[in-house]
Amino acid sequence: MTTEKRDYYDILGLDRNSTQEDIKKAFRKHALKYHPDRNKEKDAPEKFKEINEAYQVLSDPEKRSIYDQYGHAGISSNFEGFEGFGGFGDIFDAFFGGSSSDSRSSKGRDLEFVVSISFEEAAFGTEKELDIKRREKCSVCKGARAEPGTEITSCTSCSGTGQVTRAQRTVFGQFQQITTCSTCNGIGRTVASPCKHCVGKGTESVNRRIKIPIPAGIDNGSRIRMESEGEPGSNGGSIGDLYLLIKVLKHQFFERERNDVLISLDVNIVTAALGGTVIVPTLDGEYDLEIPQGSQSGRMIRLKSYGVPYLGRKGKRGDQIITLYIMTPTKLNMEQKKILKDFGDELGIEGVNDIDNDIIDRMKGAFKGR
Ligand SMILES: [Zn+2]
Ligand SMILES: [Zn+2]
Repeated sequence: MTTEKRDYYDILGLDRNSTQEDIKKAFRKHALKYHPDRNKEKDAPEKFKEINEAYQVLSDPEKRSIYDQYGHAGISSNFEGFEGFGGFGDIFDAFFGGSSSDSRSSKGRDLEFVVSISFEEAAFGTEKELDIKRREKCSVCKGARAEPGTEITSCTSCSGTGQVTRAQRTVFGQFQQITTCSTCNGIGRTVASPCKHCVGKGTESVNRRIKIPIPAGIDNGSRIRMESEGEPGSNGGSIGDLYLLIKVLKHQFFERERNDVLISLDVNIVTAALGGTVIVPTLDGEYDLEIPQGSQSGRMIRLKSYGVPYLGRKGKRGDQIITLYIMTPTKLNMEQKKILKDFGDELGIEGVNDIDNDIIDRMKGAFKGR
């Protein structure tokens, strides 16, 4: 940058005590006025760039505090990414923090952790706490890398651009070669006295307990994104995000299919034939389920709105679906067998084994086990 930079507050017509709301308003006003699509004056693109840069810094509380303390030199000075500024979309991206426009800045690392929750927690939502270790901006220098009170200067080798242009004379003529400045490693600033706390890194490792809101209705394998809870970016790049991969633990009785809770229920033949009441578990506690007379195996009974709540839709829930399995009795004594045999005779069922065979069966069974 060849020309002296104007004060960011002056550019937006603000004073140092302006609130975030003031900054937003001022940006909107100025950006609309100077947007190259609307304003055809010659210096409009340059003004527009300036406004954008000022906004990027002042709207970010951390960048703003660095700017307040160290001035332009504290902020990564290369905003050349604006050169290719195009349509109206870009400006709104920038406005809502969508993209970082510093070509040498890079977004901080995203972090991902797995969070295990119970079936019920997934259904009804909860708040989980997670202990994580991550890098954060140094608490002493706020990421500026210099010992507070000491000077950060624009790199003299590259005038703060981070790049040096070398003219190379060859037999074919003169070539311009642009390379990363070796004095400042492309950062554009030189720190005379590095911050002692972070040894000039600008970041430090911190243990944090993060509160994670788990919304009702979340499913296994979902990812929750917590914006800007990752690691700090470099050269004014935005903070990374924190992703939480949700793992829903297996339930003793329930299975889930979208928002329905599935459960299978064993019913003895007597209840299945005559009808009756069986207690079944639901997400809302025990439920007295009526088994209709003459129920067959595989019959499904639906409990409306006993399922999992729909994510983000208050009050709406899936159903619980109970599949009946009619159990054939396996351990009958002689008397019970006689009753069943008589019942079979009553129905006229032919070909049923004689009850005496039971003794032989049992002997067979005993040998089978050897
Ligand atoms: Zn530091
Ligand atoms: Zn340099």
